[in-house]
Amino acid sequence: MRADAPDPLYERLASYAGRPAAIAGTGKDPVNAPMIRHWCEAMGDTSPAYRGPDAVAPPAMLQAWTMRGLSEDPEPGSGSGRSTAYDELLGLLDGAGYTSVVATDCEQEYLRPLRPGDLITFDAVIEAVSPRKTTKLGAGYFVTTRMNVRANGEPAGTHRFRILKYHPARRGKETPLRPRPVVNRDNAGFWAGVAEHRLLIQRCTSCATLRFPWLPGCNACAGQEWDTVGASGEGTVFSHVVMHHPPFPAFDPSGEGGPYAVALIELAEGVRIVGNVIGVPYDKVRVGLPVRLEFLRTDPDLELPVFRASEGG
Ligand code: ZN
Repeated sequence: MRADAPDPLYERLASYAGRPAAIAGTGKDPVNAPMIRHWCEAMGDTSPAYRGPDAVAPPAMLQAWTMRGLSEDPEPGSGSGRSTAYDELLGLLDGAGYTSVVATDCEQEYLRPLRPGDLITFDAVIEAVSPRKTTKLGAGYFVTTRMNVRANGEPAGTHRFRILKYHPARRGKETPLRPRPVVNRDNAGFWAGVAEHRLLIQRCTSCATLRFPWLPGCNACAGQEWDTVGASGEGTVFSHVVMHHPPFPAFDPSGEGGPYAVALIELAEGVRIVGNVIGVPYDKVRVGLPVRLEFLRTDPDLELPVFRASEGG
């Protein structure tokens, strides 16, 4: 798109400037000495200005007085929840394919010192939306919001916050590759086994304890000497998670970056290994599912042990 080409989406986005970005509210607590002290301790700020009877709050604490905390349901009027207008604006961007977001910068302006006892109120507006910009991450729009902070009703400061909502740039058409395993002196024998389609488990030659993943020494007896036993290949799913985000097409059998299951497999020998379960949809993987070892070539330079469900799931 040329810089001077009409951009109907931009026209719509820009019309949100000046509308509320957040539900106006009241600080959960007045400005107070304990919060100032904890902040200074955490930041290592020993300035005398923030101590004693004439203490002021560090200006950079501006946002600390307006945050709503970790509770899921903000109390009405005390939160900094997003406004309907801001949700609509983000929805327009999502709908047009600008689905990714990154915070780019924030800027604060201090108009009046805050002192213990000051009552904080705030509101926030959508200050500006940029024309469409091309960035390294992808094309998108910068959205700036401005929170206005007041103390006992007087303007005390502003907090500008800018995000980029963008359409992720495609990195070529070729199938993405899985990350390479880190092969080092301690685990090289394992990967040598994989190359021969054997899943090798280390065995301590002093106490015969099996161990996996590979380690330089025995956790049971601290013995340094070891040999290996080849896994029979039988196992069961001990635990599993389904990865939804971030999408990683290399791990998804369909190549779409959709959800995929990562399982912790308990081998018949008693040790556990992390791997993919194949032959069953990701949502059919369950604890106790019997699986059998296979080797999967994921790309010309990488072969991995994976586990095929022995039944339909
Ligand atoms: Zn041992």
